[in-house]
Amino acid sequence: DHTLSAFLADEAATLGLGEILASALRGGLTVFLHGDLGAGKTTLTRGILRGLGYAGRVKSPTYTLVEPYVVSNLQFHHFDLYRFGDPSEWEDAGFREMFNPTSVCMVEWPDKAAGLLPPPDWIITLLPEADGRRLTLQAETLTGKTCLASLTD
Ligand code: ADP
Ligand code: MG
Repeated sequence: DHTLSAFLADEAATLGLGEILASALRGGLTVFLHGDLGAGKTTLTRGILRGLGYAGRVKSPTYTLVEPYVVSNLQFHHFDLYRFGDPSEWEDAGFREMFNPTSVCMVEWPDKAAGLLPPPDWIITLLPEADGRRLTLQAETLTGKTCLASLTD
């Protein structure tokens, strides 16, 4: 199947699903993260990094726009484009090169850089549901579908 849907009752569940998703990642994967402020996009990314074996602090790149990690033989770029405004910055800051076959890129607020970002392999959406969150993951590309399928194999 090309979609995944999960109810996440609390923060621990979001971190836990992130750890599971980490095992499906491979170099070259681009993931868009949709959801309002406080939806859990950074929390999920924190879980993924934890799953990859990263033991340090994962801070929100709200002001820096991107936070780079090297973990588990992967370059991992965590973007938060909420404050991205100047398209000329995309090239100048080297953002374009960060999307390459050996890196995983997770992008919060991808709409802020529409037209600059490559197409996503996964689109993840987090919505409020009861006291928790509903996560849906849609695999958009063949690579994305293969990675998602590796979770259930
Ligand atoms: P975003 O990056 O989408 O703005 P954050 O991950 O920074 O959101 O913040 C999410 C907030 O919601 C945190 O306070 C976190 O503890 C909480 N949270 C995360 N997942 C859940 C969940 N499944 N249910 C309830 N609260 C959650
Ligand atoms: Mg965030």
